Order: sequence, then structure tokens, then C-alpha cells
Amino acid sequence: MEPVEIEAKTLIQKSKTPSNDYVINPYTGCVLGCAYCFASFAGRRFGRSVKEWGDYLYVKKNAVELARTELAKMPEHKRQGTILLSSVTDPYQGHETKYRLTRGILNELEAVAYPGLVRVLTKSPIVTRDIDLLTSLPRAEVGMTVTTADDKVSRWLEVRAPLASRRLRTLAELKEAGIPAYAFVGPLLPHFATRPELLDDLFGRLVDAGVSEVFMEHINLKPYIRERMDQVLAEEPEEVREAYLQARTKEHRERLDAIVADLLTKHGLGLRFEEVVHHDDNDALRQRPTPST
Ligand code: SF4
Repeated sequence: MEPVEIEAKTLIQKSKTPSNDYVINPYTGCVLGCAYCFASFAGRRFGRSVKEWGDYLYVKKNAVELARTELAKMPEHKRQGTILLSSVTDPYQGHETKYRLTRGILNELEAVAYPGLVRVLTKSPIVTRDIDLLTSLPRAEVGMTVTTADDKVSRWLEVRAPLASRRLRTLAELKEAGIPAYAFVGPLLPHFATRPELLDDLFGRLVDAGVSEVFMEHINLKPYIRERMDQVLAEEPEEVREAYLQARTKEHRERLDAIVADLLTKHGLGLRFEEVVHHDDNDALRQRPTPST
């Protein structure tokens, strides 16, 4: 798959979520192609369907210049805002090694000593390439998405993402480098409700990697996401399909919440926002951060 290079008109966008003020997406699309990705709508303006998610990438080749110009115009009081890299793409997917857009943007933030929090969210060990910039910024943190400790499950759902075991090692490397890092356990996989020992194992590994705080989110199974999930689930046994069907119910979420609460206490882990975020059309929680990566 050849990426398509484009000229973007703007880069730093206001965030619709309360915990981030701005979002930066250097790419449209994400070749990691996770089955559960909520961002699979993002290619619509290029005429890309949800089912094509993971098979295309648009590269905003002028992203670094835009970051420089937009930061220069940003008034001082707005520079206090938290910037998330990224909300609908992974800023460190493999093509970043060639294009270096995320690095270029961090470099621009570092050049103006951006005083607000720069929050990076990724599944990729490529983030360690930029430890020099992340440690030079006044305030930076990295979230690493880890949904399972089982590489087979990771390969099944997070089709081309770095394996879970590699991400755990990356978290340890970030911690060693002194960068504040947390784990994003999202989506919280439905089978943990019947196999809590697997979540127990995951939490144990996160603690071993030096993590002290997790951000957790229940699986989002809105119809457009199910369109892709159903393709993956079609080949799975009945009990797996059933677990994902049950995941839409309040009872399921409450059962998982209770398991999570016990295991957080057992492992001494903190929970960001003090709750497992979930997506329900009638629920204000959907206004919480909805990172995709
Ligand atoms: S969940 Fe993140 S890493 Fe996975 S496809 Fe979506 S944006 Fe990419």
C-alpha cells in the first residue's frame, strides 16, 4: 500500500473532549488497522469506506510547516492547552520512520517551549526514537495502548500493530527514560468478564513495566464499528461471538467494572478519571476522551 501525500490546510484542531484542548493528526488513516478502531470513519472525506480502514494512508506532508505557523500565531494563554498526538491515527505507525512528521511537530513544540501538556498516544515502539524531544519539552507524557498480554489476541484484533509484548517493553523503556507514561487499556476486551485471570495477568505485566496508572475504556460497538468487528468475529466460535454481543449490555459493563476495581486494588494501579469510560449515546461519559490508537 502506497501512502498518498497531501497538502493539509490546517493541523492543530480544537478537541471536542474535556481532557484535551487540541488534537494533531499528522496522517489520515492508520495502517495498523485495528478491528475495533473508532476512527474508521476518518477517511470519509477522501471517499474511503469504513471497511477500507487500514488499507490507506494520507500523509499531510506540510504538517511540520503548519505546526510552525499555527504555533507562532497561537496566543500565549492558549499555549497552556493540552495537545493530543493523535486522536484518529497512530502518530508512530511505520511510515513515520520515513516521513518524520510527528518528530517534526514535536520539534516545533520544543522550539517554542510549549508550556501546556503534550500528550502522545500510540501503540508503537517508534516513539522511543523521540525520547530526546519528549524529555526536552516542558511537559510531555506518553500513553501506550495495551489491550491484552496475549500476542495472539493482539494479532487477531490489532491486525498490523506491534505486538502487545513489544508495547510492554516500550512502556518500560519510556519509564526508564524518565518520561511520564501510562497504559491505555482500551477497549477493555469483553472476554475479561469470563476470564478475569487474563486481566489480572495484564495488570501484573503493566506493573512490571513500571506503570502506575491506567486509562480504561469499554469497547465501543457502534454500528459502523461493528461493521468491521463482525468481519473478524465471523470466523470465531459461537462463545466468542456471544461475548461480544453481551458486551453491549449494562450488566456486562457492570460485571467488568467490578472485576477491574478488584484487580486495580490488588495491583495498586491508579485509574485515570476514576472510572472505566464507556460509550453510550445517552451517556455524558461519551464526552470523555476517545483516543483511537
Ligand atoms: S486503534 Fe489506533 S492504532 Fe489501531 S487502527 Fe485505530 S488509530 Fe490505528
